[in-house]
Amino acid sequence: MGRKSSHEQTSVALKLALFGAGAAAVCAGWKLWRRAGLERLNRNLPRGQKILIVGAGFAGANAARELAKLLPRPEHAEITLVDEDDYQLFTPMLTEAAGGEIEPRHAVSPLRDLPRRITFEQGRVTEIDIPNKKVTLESPTTHGGGANRRTLSADHLVVAVGSVPNFHGVPGVAEHSLTAKSLGDAAAIRDHVLEMLERADAESDAGERRAALTFVVGGAGFTGVETMAAVNDLVRASVGRFPNVKAQDVRALLIAPEERLLPELSVELASYARRQLETRGVEVRLKTKITGAGEGCVELQGGERIETRTLIWAGGVKPSPVVERLDCERGEHGGIVVDECLRVPRRAGVWALGDCAEIPKGASKQTYSPTAQNAVREGRLVARNMVATMRGEEPRPFRYRPVGELALVGRHVGVARVYGINFSGLFAWLLWRAVYWAKMPSARQRARVLFDWLLDFMFGRPADAVIKP
Ligand SMILES: Cc1cc2nc3c(=O)[nH]c(=O)nc-3n(C[C@H](O)[C@H](O)[C@H](O)COP(=O)(O)OP(=O)(O)OC[C@H]3O[C@@H](n4cnc5c(N)ncnc54)[C@H](O)[C@@H]3O)c2cc1C
Repeated sequence: MGRKSSHEQTSVALKLALFGAGAAAVCAGWKLWRRAGLERLNRNLPRGQKILIVGAGFAGANAARELAKLLPRPEHAEITLVDEDDYQLFTPMLTEAAGGEIEPRHAVSPLRDLPRRITFEQGRVTEIDIPNKKVTLESPTTHGGGANRRTLSADHLVVAVGSVPNFHGVPGVAEHSLTAKSLGDAAAIRDHVLEMLERADAESDAGERRAALTFVVGGAGFTGVETMAAVNDLVRASVGRFPNVKAQDVRALLIAPEERLLPELSVELASYARRQLETRGVEVRLKTKITGAGEGCVELQGGERIETRTLIWAGGVKPSPVVERLDCERGEHGGIVVDECLRVPRRAGVWALGDCAEIPKGASKQTYSPTAQNAVREGRLVARNMVATMRGEEPRPFRYRPVGELALVGRHVGVARVYGINFSGLFAWLLWRAVYWAKMPSARQRARVLFDWLLDFMFGRPADAVIKP
């Protein structure tokens, strides 16, 4: 009996080994076949071509990754990626970082981890010469004085410099607000909120204490709603640690000129999001414009003045300022006008994509929205189109319909619309986390974020310290 079972075990092990070897052989065969196919396709490519990608966000970094796959050999082309930061920021996790649920650094992955086929150059691009396909960049010197300036030239230039906050010219807002756009912004929001709690705890003047405990967010889109939810949760979870701060003294306001929250989602989901925020103590003021901001105050349409030490601006984005100086056509939103294949018209070899470009949606007058979902796919397409033109083939137009939209509206609560079906509550929150976690670019980043979430789940929000430079 015993011998028979050991025979069975050996035969199962043998079958498994054969299956594993077969699968490995199929994989290796497929890779070889693909490589041979690429070699054939790339055989007649012009040698020594230089591809330069400016901006390593969702659009630029994905373009570089796809190019590295399509042009695997250095003689196919030189692929250079330039960015002022040496990391790729995963923006969907920024509000989690601002709310203290994850460590801010865990929302980024180092660009030096990209495939070796890509040359990364860190530097701030100060000038893009579109007609001559030349880019000037600056980086600090090692001795701290002046800047290292260099010019890179290219045969194919990809502009993917993203966007910056749009203050719409509202007086005082740029000077007196925090924004939720960069890694530094997320850390600054978290630190500022905790500092306000410290100050309120030590403050004897009731008016000053109220102002320190009043948190205003301007903007009702995804970033505004998620930032308000995160800040409100952070404040209310931390309040118990400050003996002189009472929860009822905290005021959180979400202010926006729109008629409802989250215009990208359905009316029902927007109303649900509003109810959830209000249940958690947020005052939602819609159809209300912020008309100005100053040292310690926010002014509203109609003359109302709110005393606050915290205004977080999430009122939209506009293309990066470097785009304003480019010698090419700009569209209604200030972005670089491109055709459906992401080419800059009348500028052979120049491409633009992501938040800094205006990509037409078919024959309609609309353009694709500035989202990471679009930018990732535009990045892959620009690489394929560029290689297609190098091979003498026709480029393809950008066509994409997002499968869904997701937003967090508080701890363990989210809203989502996926394949036209609405979800809300805990399931939508879990879906948000599962989807964005899976989309993070590296396994190391995923492991770090998972660990942060696990700690948060097991021990609640940590009593964070504010680290001053
Ligand atoms: C808080 C927040 C949450 C978001 N959540 C979502 C979401 O859940 N889903 C979604 O689809 N979208 C989301 N977005 C939008 C999304 O982040 C953008 O649409 C996306 O990042 C655009 O990609 P991009 O590559 O065009 O620009 P970016 O990702 O901004 O990349 C641009 C890059 O260019 C670099 N750069 C800019 N200027 C220079 C210069 N002069 N020199 C050198 N380098 C330069 C920047 O450092 C940056 O790395 C969110 C945005 C924010 C701010």
